[in-house]
Amino acid sequence: MIVKSKTKPLLLHQLEALLNRIPDNHSKRRYIEEDYAKQRAGYKGEKSLEYHLSYLPEKDYYIFHDLRLSAGKHYFQIDILILTPFFISILEVKNISGSLYFNPVFTQLVRTIEDTEEGFPDPVKQVKRQAYHLKSWIEEQRFPVPPIEPLVVIGNERSVIKFHPRDKINPQLVIPSSEIPYKINYFINKYKTEAYSTRQLKKLITKLEISHTPLLTEILQRYQISPAELKQGVQCQKCFSFPMIRMHGRWICSACKHLSKDGHIQSLQDYSLLIDQSISNAQAKEYLGIESRDTVKRLLQSVSGKKEGVRRGTKYALDFFIDKPSSLH
Ligand SMILES: [Zn+2]
Repeated sequence: MIVKSKTKPLLLHQLEALLNRIPDNHSKRRYIEEDYAKQRAGYKGEKSLEYHLSYLPEKDYYIFHDLRLSAGKHYFQIDILILTPFFISILEVKNISGSLYFNPVFTQLVRTIEDTEEGFPDPVKQVKRQAYHLKSWIEEQRFPVPPIEPLVVIGNERSVIKFHPRDKINPQLVIPSSEIPYKINYFINKYKTEAYSTRQLKKLITKLEISHTPLLTEILQRYQISPAELKQGVQCQKCFSFPMIRMHGRWICSACKHLSKDGHIQSLQDYSLLIDQSISNAQAKEYLGIESRDTVKRLLQSVSGKKEGVRRGTKYALDFFIDKPSSLH
């Protein structure tokens, strides 16, 4: 069964919010659009793996997508983790098109498209490192460590996978996505000793769920964009222009006259993805373009479950996407 499903990554939400608020003629817009297209393709590729994963038995197979766990000072991320009482398999998904050659000597992935070669970091090395981190993590949680089988899955079905004729290792670890059920079946037959009792398995599932720490990228910093370069205010959901004006308890679009009661919600979501996961009354006043402090207070109280600080120092948590706002913890 799927414990943690493949959902739209935070980074995609962030890029969408950024593209929504960056002016059309901004010099970095095209670059961000390209990044967005790449990220989206990766997401779709991984989403399409769900079909192959659905062939795994329901009982005793627990699937987690996008787990990010702590390894001391750093984090490690696992695209897909398959937990069973007998073994664990971790899948690193690559959606790289073209002809892919796994060079065993230089541990590098070389992609060729129309006679142009391009090198990529070796995904086999990457997934082995994750297996190592996972092993340490399980030990730290004081659970027994079962056999861990790392795999690199090539999600793009039209990619051609090539190995060196004498390469004994990579062909065992790199598979096209359609091979997932067969490979897992192979592990099922290979490992017959139970590493976990039902009780332990349940405990470990909970531990994995609560230990997952989503990554919120400092997206403006990544592209060297300041908040002042973004479009401010509430966006009209009908004609998409900025800003809507607050009037008699509602928002009215200055371009198309569309009326909205909750236009500020999407704007505050954008704020949480791009700028900060908490906001003060003064910041919201300026960002939403509202004169009245009391109105802002009412709006913030209606969307935020948590606040911290007193009087003018009060900050409201904007936890639309993550329930652990970093600036409040
Ligand atoms: Zn409008």
